[in-house]
Amino acid sequence: MYLRLDNIEKSYPGSQEPALKSLNLNIKRRQILALLGESGSGKSTLLKIIAAKTQYDKGDYLIDEIAVEEKRVEMMNSIEGIDYLDQESDVPSFISIRDALQRKLINYENSWSKRRIKKLIKILRLEGFETKKPEELSGGQRQRAALAITLAAEPEVILLDEAFTSMDFQLKHQIQLDLFEFIRDQNMTAIVVTHDPNDALMFADKIAVMRKGKIIQKGNPFKIYNKPRTKYTAELFGLVNKFNENDKENYIRPEKVKISSK
Ligand code: ADP
Ligand code: MG
Repeated sequence: MYLRLDNIEKSYPGSQEPALKSLNLNIKRRQILALLGESGSGKSTLLKIIAAKTQYDKGDYLIDEIAVEEKRVEMMNSIEGIDYLDQESDVPSFISIRDALQRKLINYENSWSKRRIKKLIKILRLEGFETKKPEELSGGQRQRAALAITLAAEPEVILLDEAFTSMDFQLKHQIQLDLFEFIRDQNMTAIVVTHDPNDALMFADKIAVMRKGKIIQKGNPFKIYNKPRTKYTAELFGLVNKFNENDKENYIRPEKVKISSK
């Protein structure tokens, strides 16, 4: 699937500022895109629109050059082939992780779905928890189970909204290595919302930086880190030192400073 958003605008009733302002974005097949930006910049709104969970006011949203309104499954408020993990979502209650995964894989052949479940359980470090129900799991374990469920049924596109926030650094790092390898192996397209620049730098092919309802810079991680166009982008990715030269403000990353005797 190739996704295209042209001049998308969205205002919530009662809000003074639009949540999204004339936003343009292309997502190529098999691309892993990270959406990064401060809280309130419109990341979740954009993802909800891409998932067809929220209506937009103006602009065009096309999937493989077809207007999305024609693709939306009316009753379900979803698009076939796109699986979405909401920022607030949780795993289904009352059933075990394995049952939830099996339910998602109901249309697949039994031996295939068994293998798929085993693989996802392994990637998400949920071995030993397969028969546990949500109330018996920690927040981080539930988040990992929700990721497994989202990835289970071979979606073409996955949309993940802050899906790693309840994991501690070490585990998150290990899981992300395996998870994004799996996503690439499966030829999935991924749009991953995060406020953690380390996440974005680690797995993304492309990063889109959002501020106040707009995408203010797009590029590969190397470019965004080393050639930020604004102070806002520079500061999102970590420390910068300021120095003045000819009355102009300049910024430099601390690790780029070399001390020499001359
Ligand atoms: P982010 O995910 O980057 O934190 P959001 O997309 O959640 O940003 O929010 C963007 C803006 O829209 C914020 O100003 C937020 O307060 C507002 N907003 C988000 N959801 C709603 C809603 N359901 N009703 C009204 N305003 C909302
Ligand atoms: Mg959000």
